[in-house]
Amino acid sequence: MTFLKSQLKNNRFLMIVILAYVAVGIFSPDKFLPSLGNTWYYVKEMLMIMPVILLLTSLISAWVPKETIENAFGKNSGIKGSLFAFLLGSFSAGPIYAAFPVCKMLLSKGASIANIVIILSTWAVIKIPMLITESKFLGPEFMVVRWILTTLAIFLMGYITSRFVKPEDLPADDEAAALVDPLSLNPDYCVGCGLCAKIAPSHFKMVDKKATVISQTLSSGDGLAIKDAVAKCPSQIIRFHP
Ligand code: SF4
Repeated sequence: MTFLKSQLKNNRFLMIVILAYVAVGIFSPDKFLPSLGNTWYYVKEMLMIMPVILLLTSLISAWVPKETIENAFGKNSGIKGSLFAFLLGSFSAGPIYAAFPVCKMLLSKGASIANIVIILSTWAVIKIPMLITESKFLGPEFMVVRWILTTLAIFLMGYITSRFVKPEDLPADDEAAALVDPLSLNPDYCVGCGLCAKIAPSHFKMVDKKATVISQTLSSGDGLAIKDAVAKCPSQIIRFHP
């Protein structure tokens, strides 16, 4: 039951989408099959694009040193960093959702919030392939004026967002933590069952109905208890790399 509840909680957006389909099927059955067709179209598109993007992101993450990303896009990169961010977004290809894993990787390597806003916004609304199509349909004059105004707005948005949103406001990168610490968990998905704290009390503690790791020190025999907690955690959120 607890496992089912945690799965429902972890996949709540998927549940909302399924409920929306059920509602369409009941109240507007003629739209049910076309809506499924549309969804399948986008799923196929994502299956073609996302593996390439994730592979590219992993390669950049593994091969490009943190200092290089920090120098190019970090908070001390100044106007040069903003221009790099602008060019990266402008010369990108593919839908905007492909930009999120790239930006997540850049953030984890020290890119500033302002430059991430610039990359995302440029990618979404003024990338080069989009401008070429826009010019063809609406004319070069329209495209140039919109490009100038949108560019100004993007730099302003980057500045304003960086004033209000700090890196510590963003969700914790549990993958990164898992690589650094032998023992980690993502409390966002903890259902508060307390099993881990019972099984390995010297490493886990319940705080406000969420589990937290209290020690990374491993004595003999600890590994077995922690592995037991990993196996029994109903949310499967405990990572252990001794
Ligand atoms: S981390 Fe601990 S408390 Fe949270 S769901 Fe897993 S076993 Fe339960």
